[in-house]
Amino acid sequence: MSVVRQDLSTKDWTIFATERAKRPKDECKVVEKRQIKDEYVKSCPFCKGNERMTPKEVFSIKEEGSWKIRVVPNKFPALKLKKEYDGTIDRHINDGYLYMDGVGSHEVIIESPKHNDDLATLRLEQVEEVMLTYRQRFIELSKNDDYQLIVIFRNHGIRAGTSLEHPHSQLVATPFVPCYVRNKLFESQRYFDDLGRCVFCDMIKYELKDNERMICENEDFVAFAPYASVVSYNVIILPKKHESCFVDVSEKDVRSLASILRLILQKLYYLLDDPDYNYVIDSSPIDKSGERHYHWHLKILPRLTTRAGFEIGSGVNINTILPEDCAKSLREIKI
Ligand SMILES: [Zn+2]
Ligand SMILES: [Zn+2]
Repeated sequence: MSVVRQDLSTKDWTIFATERAKRPKDECKVVEKRQIKDEYVKSCPFCKGNERMTPKEVFSIKEEGSWKIRVVPNKFPALKLKKEYDGTIDRHINDGYLYMDGVGSHEVIIESPKHNDDLATLRLEQVEEVMLTYRQRFIELSKNDDYQLIVIFRNHGIRAGTSLEHPHSQLVATPFVPCYVRNKLFESQRYFDDLGRCVFCDMIKYELKDNERMICENEDFVAFAPYASVVSYNVIILPKKHESCFVDVSEKDVRSLASILRLILQKLYYLLDDPDYNYVIDSSPIDKSGERHYHWHLKILPRLTTRAGFEIGSGVNINTILPEDCAKSLREIKI
């Protein structure tokens, strides 16, 4: 018997059809084993020694003269800095349709000089520096009045849409707030209007009490499998302190985030044999810093299956493993 669950914060539905995990799919199974990688790859623009292959860096963390983390503009950006092509954020109408210049920032955060490093296996200190870099770039770009939303994300593996395997994350700043984000803000606002509380703070309370979907916690963060997980092994990491925008996160908290994120990535790495995944820092738009109804978080979505026709047609995901079972496996795996 399948069950359909609703996410408290977005009102999105997910179908849990655990029977579907047993359906025959051998003939179209994709066998992909990660290969042993070299520390340096001549053609990789992110490897140490190949710095000339990227645009000029905008930020770096160095140790004894050599870089540990570098941030560079994306060479093939989705959105481009205004100064580079005289763009504007003015909206125009053409035959009734709205358009604007592709103004924005698209940066790459190179997480290590070594090609064969991985966030799951890096030392804690290096993961902390990646998170501190996220914070520095977020704060820096939030000063630009043209930008409304900043999205920091990491694509790991081909199924997650990565085009370069060197460990890196990305950041995109947009001069508009997309409908997808507006809808999430609207639903959390509605919850706040009805109950006078932040929906995410409530979720933390429920999960800590119920414990069934909890994976781990530290002083500042909780990590659990969401009640209406959109994919198997979906994990959400939430700060215990209510904070709507990532721009407000403290240096201490960002170090604490590094510690819990690293632990979750390690658990996924060992439990699921280094799965492809996306993670995203889901923050309120910049001008919504201090909102009482939204609560920033980091969500991890392993890419064990691909969205198919039903998901595209309905916006409803079909998940074959209950979050209670995913959380149990993630809790129990020892690092
Ligand atoms: Zn490389
Ligand atoms: Zn909250």
